[in-house]
Amino acid sequence: MGYTNRELSSIYNKNDGYCHLCDKKLSRTNYNAPGAKGAWHVDHSKALANGGTHHMNNLFPACISCNLEKGTYHKNTIRKRKGYYQTKSDSGCFITSACIRSKGLPDDCYELQVLRNFRDTYITSNERGMKLINEYYRPAPLIVQRINNLNNANEIYSELYCKIKKAVSLIDHKMYSAAFEFYCNLVRDLKKDYLV
Ligand SMILES: [Zn+2]
Repeated sequence: MGYTNRELSSIYNKNDGYCHLCDKKLSRTNYNAPGAKGAWHVDHSKALANGGTHHMNNLFPACISCNLEKGTYHKNTIRKRKGYYQTKSDSGCFITSACIRSKGLPDDCYELQVLRNFRDTYITSNERGMKLINEYYRPAPLIVQRINNLNNANEIYSELYCKIKKAVSLIDHKMYSAAFEFYCNLVRDLKKDYLV
């Protein structure tokens, strides 16, 4: 089906111009231009054959190859195949990893394992969680860089580490939604404090 320029822009911008299946950057101008760099299609997130609609809330940008590979599969099937969650969850741990390093703890320490597991199961399994990860994981390296440039970086990481331990303890007590809220607030505060 044909889309107006305006519709295409709004679909493209929905995901900051990244493929919603593999997270590669797409080129706005190379819509439906097979072979061109960042060429993309409009993907019906829920396939038409599975009862999906042409409504805007079902339309997302995807590489042409991802779109064709997806066919009638569920988006999560293709995301798994493309390593989408791997990228997200590794980057999602960026700040925790920085805290852990500043504490001299190993990369496979208990806290990181619990948080990774929580992210790969609970958070990535719901839409709000994915939205949060999307919103957070691109700026995460910049946040760490900004903290590292401060004289009191170690102090900041110590404070963050206390908060991370709080989140881990909520997860240990199976208080998953509380842990999720706690984590959302932490991300929001970090963005507010270090990205402005
Ligand atoms: Zn893709």
